[in-house]
Amino acid sequence: MDDNKRPYNKLSYVPFFKIKITDDFWATRQKINREVSIPRQLEQLEEDHHIDNFRVAAGVKHGTHLGEFYFDSDLYKWLEAAFYVFHMHKDNNLEKKVNEIVDLIVKAQLKDGYVNTFYSPRFIEKRFTNFPFMHELYCAGHLIQAAIAQYKANGSKELLKVAEKFANFIAKVFRNKKDKEVTGHEEIEMALIELFRITKKRDYLLLSRELINNRGHISGLTAYVIRKYLNFNHILKAAKRFNEIFKKGNPNLDYSMHGEKDEVADFYSDLTLNEKIKFIFSILKGKCFQLNIPVREIIDPEGHAVRAMYLFCGVADLYSETGDQLLLNVLKRIWLKIVKGKMYISGGIGSIKGIEGFEKDFKLRNEKSYSETCAAIGFLIWSWRLLQITGHCKYADLIERLLYNAMLVGYSIDGRKYFYSNPLVSYGQEERKEWFLCACCPPNVARIIASLGNYIYSMSEKGIWIHQYIGNESQVTLHNNTIKIELKSNFPWNGMVKIKLGLDKNRNFSIFLRVPQWCINNTLTVNGKKYYGPLTPGKYVEIIRNWIDKDLIELNFEMVPRLLESDPRIKSNRGKGVLSYGPLIYCLEQKDNKNFDILNMKIPKDQDFEISYEPNLLDGITIIKGHISDKEKFIAIPYYAWNNRGPTKMQVWNEVI
Ligand SMILES: [Zn+2]
Repeated sequence: MDDNKRPYNKLSYVPFFKIKITDDFWATRQKINREVSIPRQLEQLEEDHHIDNFRVAAGVKHGTHLGEFYFDSDLYKWLEAAFYVFHMHKDNNLEKKVNEIVDLIVKAQLKDGYVNTFYSPRFIEKRFTNFPFMHELYCAGHLIQAAIAQYKANGSKELLKVAEKFANFIAKVFRNKKDKEVTGHEEIEMALIELFRITKKRDYLLLSRELINNRGHISGLTAYVIRKYLNFNHILKAAKRFNEIFKKGNPNLDYSMHGEKDEVADFYSDLTLNEKIKFIFSILKGKCFQLNIPVREIIDPEGHAVRAMYLFCGVADLYSETGDQLLLNVLKRIWLKIVKGKMYISGGIGSIKGIEGFEKDFKLRNEKSYSETCAAIGFLIWSWRLLQITGHCKYADLIERLLYNAMLVGYSIDGRKYFYSNPLVSYGQEERKEWFLCACCPPNVARIIASLGNYIYSMSEKGIWIHQYIGNESQVTLHNNTIKIELKSNFPWNGMVKIKLGLDKNRNFSIFLRVPQWCINNTLTVNGKKYYGPLTPGKYVEIIRNWIDKDLIELNFEMVPRLLESDPRIKSNRGKGVLSYGPLIYCLEQKDNKNFDILNMKIPKDQDFEISYEPNLLDGITIIKGHISDKEKFIAIPYYAWNNRGPTKMQVWNEVI
């Protein structure tokens, strides 16, 4: 089994299944994820033929492939989330369903190892003819990750065998490929390295390295992209034609779609002329798929944000296994470029709708914030990799920002609805949806929430690293000794944290505690005695001592409501400020502020904001109260909580005076 130690990483992570989340905020969300979101997503996947597509490919149902060409990936991600849940919760009904799906995937695999329900039942001869536009390797990557999740959850190699056979087939096609074609939607790179870690078969690592190294080496790229675009249209038309004929011959079958049929067409028709032009150029230049430049030469992150994040995850994994310093330098540079100039205050990334990706530095218009929920998740899992590699606090700080803001805003409080893109201002049209035709985000959120414990601790030779103050009970292993940790906190509503250790005998080691970047005043005591060393925001404080059983660390990270002013280089935010409290950013919703138009008001800087915890509002939140004039008061709520009471105007960046 995977041991979490990577040859070139400073830290090794503690897997989520060794950690029981106990705090109100996240334990509630994990329960909702388990009891509401995952079962409901399964219904949606069933209603929208994601599972039927496998029944057809497996030959157990008469039908044809319905839906988008990447539908398989959504089901694989959902499976991954379900396997994560099984580590700690028995659910016979869910297990039965999961077993049925696994069985279908096994049956849908072709003799040579290929699995893809879009191609295999209809036109297998067209497979692997279009890497930039079709998502066969993206789907394969998610299949591999689901297989690894199954193996870790119950030791079953059922899916793992499918994944390996497919990976072997992919290796045959891609190893030493002269034309250096690679996928246009990354994901396979990190999955293959995860497969290498589980199986210890070096071929998978070498294949991943080749796929990463081959990027940016297509000669005559624009002509290639045009050829592939024409081929893409040809494949989609062939699929449509095939289905029309099939439907005529089988008029009584169910062809209904729950996800909105016109979603993809609407997406493109909603683009402004400028966005359309940018989109076309990004495709023609190969930037959208990160095909325009070798990975080692990337200076500015470009193109589709989710694809870029998944690529960088794969590159980080490659560094962790090979120690290729140039790759790490590139990643550190790109990460900084994004954080300094291409990231919204929420942690959201992607500010051009057409390419769902990166704009020029500081072009961060709030209404144009695409900030796909998946992009926040990609940024999170990439930052987590950089954290394990370097032990630098800034990555853990960003993970916190993403968890509480850019990712969480994509998930409704009741666990039933989602946002795909996340603007920072709304004129009242946006509404959360139960499902999407392109359903990448919902199961992505489900797998992160189910495996949330991954982000809390790391281990190093010196000791234990505490990155996130999410209440939990856990057992970690240091130098072959088990240490129990009980962490109590009420994040994000107040900054009091208590950490109690359980040891069988006295031991010398360090505990590294993250001092959040947002926290200016903080205190630390060990068994009631004050720590007088520096507690620098954005750094870890290392406490070295001979720890004894029941030792107690108490931290108080002062949380105060603040009005943060924007970087003046962001033109659209000049003269504006955002309210924040602890790790949260806040917004105003029109619903809470009935007496004035929230989009046309100014917040005086010179005032003391107040907070109050409202247990009955939006499942319990801390609100910020202030005034906009002598008479008029305002209420702000956490950004993640907006649009949980229906559509309404919303604003994150407010004019200040
Ligand atoms: Zn998504």
